[in-house]
Amino acid sequence: MAAKIIDGKSLAAAVRAAARPQVEQLAARGVQPGLAVMLPGDNPASRVYVRNKVRACEETGLRSEMHEFPGNIEEAVLLERIARLNRDARVHGILVQLPLPRQVDAARVLSAVSPAKDVDGFHPQNLGALVSGQPGFVPCTPAGVLRMLEHEQVPIAGRQAVVVGRSNIVGKPMALLLLQKDATVTICHSKTAHLGAITRQADVLVAAVGIARLIGQEMVKPGACVIDVGMNRLADGSLAGDVDFEAVKTVAGWISPVPGGVGPMTVAMLIANTVRAAARSIPGGA
Ligand code: NAD
Repeated sequence: MAAKIIDGKSLAAAVRAAARPQVEQLAARGVQPGLAVMLPGDNPASRVYVRNKVRACEETGLRSEMHEFPGNIEEAVLLERIARLNRDARVHGILVQLPLPRQVDAARVLSAVSPAKDVDGFHPQNLGALVSGQPGFVPCTPAGVLRMLEHEQVPIAGRQAVVVGRSNIVGKPMALLLLQKDATVTICHSKTAHLGAITRQADVLVAAVGIARLIGQEMVKPGACVIDVGMNRLADGSLAGDVDFEAVKTVAGWISPVPGGVGPMTVAMLIANTVRAAARSIPGGA
């Protein structure tokens, strides 16, 4: 039986629509959620992602502001700007678009964002909260994946989950979220031996690697839920995920496409986090 295709685009639209009443309630109290996006360097892919995020903000009634910097920007300038945005009451969320230029220490820059405005969930305090099960901002991409799984009512508790990729922004927080939902979680990475034998055990398989079509049909357990985080630009300019979609959809139970899967969910969760940050900034806010 062919897999159910998980429509991230329409679920993302629903998540954003659900944020609108909150935006209106905040407006009634004189608060418009504001997101500051920092874009250092001239990475074309980053520019596309940032444009999508800014457009989604505008469509949902949020205020957004762009802070662009040349590729040779000094770290001190970024840190000074973050300090200013941390103090700015009209800014509720600060996003630093990755990757950062080579001369900039990403860990230092991400740690400079106030944890209360860290809507990407990359600050060590928010990552620590995720590890210990405390409330905090959860990185948008894994949060979006979890929302997709919940929406599709994919069984997680007691099941085998395999996350391929161990980055701080996707793989590791994804594994923690699945663990919180009582899955038995395995993390695979570039040094993992016998990748296919492990992924084939997965009831829930999340691929976040950055290698086009790495996950083939023979690596997937029949009936599994396969979520493809990968976004790989092919030589012909088209976009491909980490999963061989056409082959895997014939064995999986659910599969998310690229594009139209995780990407729009990431943006929707960013909006949700920014609205939450704005609500928390006012007395008695959520
Ligand atoms: P990353 O480069 O930081 O991490 C990639 C991970 O893959 C590493 O942990 C590495 O160990 C692992 N890996 C590399 N080769 C491997 C192999 N042969 N077998 C198993 N594991 C291997 O990347 P990232 O930032 O986590 O992003 C991963 C992918 O997800 C990229 O394609 C990126 O563009 C995409 N992404 C998409 C979204 C979205 O919103 N859809 C958001 C973030 C990242």
